[in-house]
Amino acid sequence: MADAVAIFSGGLDSTTLLYHLRAEGHSLRSLSVDYGQRHARRELDCAGRIAADLGLEWRRLDLTSLVDFFGSNALTDAARGIPTGAYSADSMALTVVPNRNMILLSVALSWAIATGATAVAFGAHGGTYAPYPDCRPAFADAMAAVARVCHESSLEVWAPFVGWSKADIVARGAELGVPFERTWSCYRGGVVHCGECGTCLDRRAAFEGAGVSDPTVYRPRE
Ligand SMILES: [Zn+2]
Repeated sequence: MADAVAIFSGGLDSTTLLYHLRAEGHSLRSLSVDYGQRHARRELDCAGRIAADLGLEWRRLDLTSLVDFFGSNALTDAARGIPTGAYSADSMALTVVPNRNMILLSVALSWAIATGATAVAFGAHGGTYAPYPDCRPAFADAMAAVARVCHESSLEVWAPFVGWSKADIVARGAELGVPFERTWSCYRGGVVHCGECGTCLDRRAAFEGAGVSDPTVYRPRE
């Protein structure tokens, strides 16, 4: 058992991560970051509510000024539309926020060191489509190596889902009683999930793949 800082977006993956680590007996703090993602308000409101439900310390960090350094991608540039349809190499490339996870892990490592935590966890996972570069095992391994040498206290980086599909995460979340209906995935950040963007379709497919009933409210198709 360890004290760990978990990067927590309020989405399906990182919410299951919190439940998974708690079930393993770890004590957690949770960190959510607004890096200018267009769905930040919706996503981070969900994160705050879930953290409160779990009785976890939760910090919301404002890094919105970083948005000027991320170039033009569909996630942080409001002038671009969110691609519709299942992920393809092209549509996924449009939603890459350059080096995002290293930034999130870097801040989480600082907070871990400052609070005496010994590990940092994030919810990167594999999938039917090639995941983002900073969600792959090579990235997780490299960050774990950095964490061992960036401070005298030698921290760990955990990515327990890195070899899992999103359907695996849904299956684990169902076992743990994760309140999926309280999590947020949609990049469009509306009142309900749009049901059309890559991450909505990925979410829906994960429930189908896991054989778990999907409680998500999707916007009706016009
Ligand atoms: Zn959507």
